[in-house]
Amino acid sequence: MRIGVDFGGTKIEAAALDEAGAFAARIREPNPGTYDAALRLVAELIARVEAEVGPAQSVGLAIPGSPSPRTGLIRNANSTYLNDRPLAKDMQAALGRPVRLANDANCLALSEAADGAGAGAASLFGVILGTGCGGGLVIDGRLVEGAHAVAAEIGHISLPWPSADEAPGPACWCGLHGCLETWISGVGFQRDHEAVTGRTWTAQAIVDAARAGDAGAAAALDRYIDRLGRGLAMVVNFADPVVFVLGGGMSNVAELYDRLPDIVARHAFSDHWDGRIVPAKWGDSSGVRGAARLWGD
Ligand SMILES: [Zn+2]
Repeated sequence: MRIGVDFGGTKIEAAALDEAGAFAARIREPNPGTYDAALRLVAELIARVEAEVGPAQSVGLAIPGSPSPRTGLIRNANSTYLNDRPLAKDMQAALGRPVRLANDANCLALSEAADGAGAGAASLFGVILGTGCGGGLVIDGRLVEGAHAVAAEIGHISLPWPSADEAPGPACWCGLHGCLETWISGVGFQRDHEAVTGRTWTAQAIVDAARAGDAGAAAALDRYIDRLGRGLAMVVNFADPVVFVLGGGMSNVAELYDRLPDIVARHAFSDHWDGRIVPAKWGDSSGVRGAARLWGD
């Protein structure tokens, strides 16, 4: 029995996976939004899961951002109260046992490569298209974290092949301009639509209006898909994964899967491109499932 915890911005979920990878228990509660309370809640959720299914052999956490390999302190988390905190150390003290942490997009990639939409593929790139944008790379079943634990951080690379009106691009919270996150996250999609039409709409409202024939919404969706396609083509040119797995709210937009392959093929540095782009099998559960697998099988 392995426990995974997904430390999300609005909720925290703990789940136990049995040997076959099936859910044996899962509990979610709203994220209390402060460091100490969140730490206590994680410990409480793990205790409740173990009360249901018995003691777990390991605990892993999916988090926004990642621990710095140099200091152990969390950085790059959009739940900003985690930043500059020694979360792994504090979590281990709270639980009285070792804990592994990984970025939530890395957990998505690990989960989908193990028994999700990319099961059996030799290489997989996972992308979360939610409030923000994260990436994770799995090769031969192993997570590639990199020397500084920022491998596959696609969200903070500039939009590739920009047109004149896409440069330098919007300011990003990371301090740079034109990061992919400012274009291909759900928030980026809304911002771009608003910048052109003046309408403050949700991503879902824009997609619905595009399907109903609204020209401004349809053009925003066209721009979104083109930019995402360019981002994935850039990934092809450095990692060339067999399969891309998309997660997060924007991954539910069916139009992506019809239209992205042509855009990727047009930009990839190859005579042909026949990779796959698919939605995550486990949806919102990819975080807990990947976290539970951080200690291997
Ligand atoms: Zn950025």
